[in-house]
Amino acid sequence: MKHVQLMMKPASSNCNLRCRYCFYFDECENREVSSYGFMKEDVLEAVVKKALEAAEETCTFGFQGGEPTLAGLPFFEKFMEFTRKYKKPGTRLFFALQTNGTLLDENWAEFLAKNSFLVGISLDGTGDIHDRNRSEKAGKGTFRKVLKNAHMLEKSGVEVNILCVLTKQSARKIASIYNFLKKEGFFYHQYIPCLDPLGQERGKNPWSLTPEIYEEALKTLFDLWFEDMRKGIHVSVREFDNWLSMLKGYPPEACSQVGRCSMQNIIEANGDIYPCDFYVLDQYRVSNILDGEFQFFQGIPRELPFFREEKGRGENCGGCRWYPLCRGGCRRDYVEEQEQRKNYFCQAYKGFFAYAIERMEWLTAYTR
Ligand code: SF4
Ligand code: SF4
Repeated sequence: MKHVQLMMKPASSNCNLRCRYCFYFDECENREVSSYGFMKEDVLEAVVKKALEAAEETCTFGFQGGEPTLAGLPFFEKFMEFTRKYKKPGTRLFFALQTNGTLLDENWAEFLAKNSFLVGISLDGTGDIHDRNRSEKAGKGTFRKVLKNAHMLEKSGVEVNILCVLTKQSARKIASIYNFLKKEGFFYHQYIPCLDPLGQERGKNPWSLTPEIYEEALKTLFDLWFEDMRKGIHVSVREFDNWLSMLKGYPPEACSQVGRCSMQNIIEANGDIYPCDFYVLDQYRVSNILDGEFQFFQGIPRELPFFREEKGRGENCGGCRWYPLCRGGCRRDYVEEQEQRKNYFCQAYKGFFAYAIERMEWLTAYTR
């Protein structure tokens, strides 16, 4: 296998925060065992060994949660030790960590910089917006701590990506969030629509993002971003970068822009493996890393239940003008409306692409 990509959950669903919209907390409530505790050394070693045996050219190890730093720095040092032990000459390794940023200190910063981790920090923007949803279990906001630690990482030379979850409230303030992040010196952004709990009708929670609000947010964000691009200020907004790159003829980077789900190799703390972070549910468990017959999958392994039951994208997508860019979005956003299967945010995408396409094409022609 040329490229192996996987994401480990070393602390399972354990987290020191209790964010109101946490999709993983909700998923774990929908399976028999909500937390698999902390990953043990034999599981960690098996993951690294089997991934590096399988990878011919590159291997990308991601860590997510719950909160993965709860596993502790010694766990991550052990992980690096295993990568050195099992790495074949010529295989390139990439490391990524997604964290709420609250538990980091100078030792973490030194480790992450030394090992070239790309770190995604969840920071929902300005203090009032962030603290509304991202609080400690006792209810105390975490904004100051997270901002301080994000700066500490940057100063230590760690590549930092800011992840903003878009809620009904934050999407309405997207201009102030974008400007605030820039002012603070963060130039890699990702804006992720928040999910509603599994099986619940979309849009019914106090924080739920609606298609109308999402469309307005995308347009506002694009206006600001485009003006910056025109002035030569490059802010990376992952969604826009992806669409621009697709317009230039490159393959999509995010699985939601491929038109089909693909295998993400999500590994829970006990070594169980699942196809996608949004579906770490009992019925989709593929196998366990400690199984004798274990193998990594890539692309679209149709023999697995998660892919076998996939219905493809929306019924309207085939004839849609924007399909080449949108590709129908993420399966987790699919809803049945008037007996029709469609992406909940379809209207937002249609409105946004119609609004932005000329400027996107201009950027495609005049920027590298
Ligand atoms: S459900 Fe969404 S995130 Fe998961 S593999 Fe499919 S497109 Fe990707
Ligand atoms: S805009 Fe809507 S119909 Fe068009 S491809 Fe996207 S989800 Fe499908």
